[in-house]
Amino acid sequence: MSHAYRGRFAPSPTGPLHFGSLVSALASYLDARKHHGSWIIRIEDVDGSRCQPAFTEQILNTLNSYQLFSDEEILIQSQRSDTYEHYLIQLKRQQMVFPCNCTRQSLTQYDGVHPHVCDSTTTQPHSWRLKPSSTLYQCQDRIQDRLVFTDDLKNSPALKRKDGFFSYQLAVVIDDHLQNITHLVRGADLIETTAQQLYLYDLFSWTPPSVCHIPLITNHAGDKISKQNHAKPISNGHLPTLLRALHYLTIDLTSPTSIPEALTQAIDAWHPDKLKNIKHLPLEAADRHF
Ligand code: GLU
Repeated sequence: MSHAYRGRFAPSPTGPLHFGSLVSALASYLDARKHHGSWIIRIEDVDGSRCQPAFTEQILNTLNSYQLFSDEEILIQSQRSDTYEHYLIQLKRQQMVFPCNCTRQSLTQYDGVHPHVCDSTTTQPHSWRLKPSSTLYQCQDRIQDRLVFTDDLKNSPALKRKDGFFSYQLAVVIDDHLQNITHLVRGADLIETTAQQLYLYDLFSWTPPSVCHIPLITNHAGDKISKQNHAKPISNGHLPTLLRALHYLTIDLTSPTSIPEALTQAIDAWHPDKLKNIKHLPLEAADRHF
């Protein structure tokens, strides 16, 4: 296997691209280019109840309008169920997953720790959940330093839901591995998914990619700007928006006259170390409209 840098941006099309996702996309893109590596877009639309093809199209148009093009064919996770099923079968053989017909409601009383009281012979619709682990996963994050996950592997997340959809956790690990992704650069909201991903890498005996979680951009209430709290879609191909997004990555360019020129300068100016010790990045007054 080649060790050349391979990075990716993997949006879930549950809404149009907003300012926070542009910042994440740029961070992964700049890091890949700085390392003379490949940058790949992947559409993570496994959750068919929340994702829409119209958003996929909109997201890709917006990324392309900022000259962010995938170096390779774009994988669409909703078309890859056979691949995920194959690896789920492997986990079944390893006896690392169990069938579960609990409802989300019935699980709330157990405080995030799955009680393992479900009927393993059930013929009713059921999910497949990951068995708990007591391994203490750790990894070195290029921005957050050492990440130590103390208590994340007891809640047995569903890898395949009752309604037949595969989970983000399973799909992201399989695709990052099969696409030979060497470096993850993504928002700090995904730190909490990392322990389960490391656990899955372990179960498959795969090497996990290097991780780098960038601080989150937060609104006036201190919450991550996200689709859930009504972040607006950004305009397409708008140089001032790009420059503001780069500003949150500690890159302040003064003179670019075009998007390609801004990106070239930004690659030079990208130093993720400058984001160390920053808890979050509050939206500045001038950017409150994002
Ligand atoms: N699809 C995930 C999201 O949009 C991100 C996946 C990742 O970067 O690991 O939140």
